[in-house]
Amino acid sequence: MKCKKCRQKAVIELKRHNSAFCREHFLEYFQNQVKRTIKKFSMFRHRDRVLVAISGGKDSLALWDVLLQLGYQADGLYIDLGIGEYSQTSGEKAQKFAAQRNAQLRYVSLADKYGFDIPDATQYTNRPACSACGLSKRYLFNREAFDGGYHAIATGHNLDDEAATLLGNVLGWNTEALARQSPVLEGSKKGFARKVKPLIRLSERETAAYCVLTGIDYIVEECPNALGARSHFYKELLNNLETESPGMKQKFLMEYLERGSHYFTRDDATELNTCQSCGHPTSGDICAFCRMTAQLLSKKLHDDPIDALFSLPTYF
Ligand SMILES: [Zn+2]
Ligand SMILES: [Zn+2]
Repeated sequence: MKCKKCRQKAVIELKRHNSAFCREHFLEYFQNQVKRTIKKFSMFRHRDRVLVAISGGKDSLALWDVLLQLGYQADGLYIDLGIGEYSQTSGEKAQKFAAQRNAQLRYVSLADKYGFDIPDATQYTNRPACSACGLSKRYLFNREAFDGGYHAIATGHNLDDEAATLLGNVLGWNTEALARQSPVLEGSKKGFARKVKPLIRLSERETAAYCVLTGIDYIVEECPNALGARSHFYKELLNNLETESPGMKQKFLMEYLERGSHYFTRDDATELNTCQSCGHPTSGDICAFCRMTAQLLSKKLHDDPIDALFSLPTYF
């Protein structure tokens, strides 16, 4: 197999593009796909400050690397969720990456700043781990990006992630979620940061290849709470379709964004208030994150007062 560009020995074949690339030309292809996505969806401009949500996994580190290579002012944001060894290792990978490139990493520990971690959240609330985790991440990504004055928060969602979410939403005709499934979610002056996904044209296999070929050290293990998640099943289904018909996955997602999504978007009529506790936007009086935190800390204080008193956040 030879590189489509230079006819040297290829290191990767991309069936859906009917091509193969050597190392150099694969990295060029990868960067071009990111550039093209940023431009096509007008995600940000060169002078904008971008905050990249870093999990320590292949996608977010590949994204951060490309944005730095392309000369963007891209800082990282890592949230330590306190999920045992998984969080420990992924945090180390994120810090190592930042140190090697002299890049800025904002490191937020859920336990230090808010007095609980994800295992606490599952123990002291009725929420499943992934629900508490998703809520915390959404809140903190938004808060850090908005308070830090960033133009946008970029996440490492790739083609496989987005296609799997789309399939799940279509199977359940979850129209509200379909309306929100966009590579760009506009921010608002009221406290919502703009959210963008520059990796949607690249597959999971390609982000892994990018990390291997550039020597990025990422955490391979998945979050232990995500094992058996529904999204894995959808990804497998889509990969089976992709094997039969290369390009299917990309077509499914891109055609939706280009031709289908406008049927589902609608004006969001919900009036937004300011959370009485933290000042961030919410549809009620107190935002979901503050409600969860308050409920959790009071239960923790009741069940395990000594431990809880020592772990209370400074603002309490
Ligand atoms: Zn080549
Ligand atoms: Zn709040």
